[in-house]
Amino acid sequence: MRVAIMGAMVEEVDPFLSTGEHEPLLKYFEKHDDVEYGGNTYHLARYKDLEIVLAYSKIGKVYSALTAATMLEHFGCEMLLFSGVAGAVNPELKIGDLIAATKLCQHDLDITAFGHPYGYVPEGKIYIEPSRELLQIAKEVAEEKGIELKGGIIATGDQFIADPERKEWIARTFDADAIEMEGASVAVVCDALGVPFFVLRAISDAADMDATFDFDEFLRHSSQRSSSFILAMLEKIDVQVAGSR
Ligand code: SAH
Repeated sequence: MRVAIMGAMVEEVDPFLSTGEHEPLLKYFEKHDDVEYGGNTYHLARYKDLEIVLAYSKIGKVYSALTAATMLEHFGCEMLLFSGVAGAVNPELKIGDLIAATKLCQHDLDITAFGHPYGYVPEGKIYIEPSRELLQIAKEVAEEKGIELKGGIIATGDQFIADPERKEWIARTFDADAIEMEGASVAVVCDALGVPFFVLRAISDAADMDATFDFDEFLRHSSQRSSSFILAMLEKIDVQVAGSR
């Protein structure tokens, strides 16, 4: 089984830096090779019985769609796990909290001028759902490790949201719990290609006036919470794959 693990920013997968308390994901893998492709570096590695392709895409929907498609089509990944940070929309989500996407949508997709709802284009869908099996694995990991994991709607757009009004609009329009800039584009790619995927985010900010102020301070810590959880999921996926042989 070949598994794609991706983030948007280097801090989210951190394959190169080992800075004190921050632990690069690659440290946990047996590494084979680095491959340059389409302007990104893909780290080919192994975790127990799983083959891993690890990369960060750069920020935003276009770069993340390119990376996800490359991981599936060029590197042949059969499953994709996304790890990263997000702004909280639901007031119950606090910095560091983990949220697994139960649905994803694009809040900046707008052809409402033609009478369509926000987030919709003909032949597309407003919401895309991740793999139920992977959500179930995440739930089990959270229970076993005593980690609180929330589920909710993640809204994606090519904007860093640091504005209470825009945040409220997204919350109302899409019933969103968290906002970020890559989840829904990765979801579109995986859904179209029929590959199971999972998007996990740790909250880095409240998407309000203080968002940029909070951001760098919490980026590393929240990224690490998210990637540690992904590692625990990988452990379970490995056991299941070994068991099914
Ligand atoms: N610090 C970076 C910019 C970060 S952009 C720089 O200076 O280059 C924000 C990133 O974190 C995106 O990848 C996005 O997915 C996520 N994110 C976290 N909080 C967000 C918010 N409030 N709005 C949109 N994206 C957010």
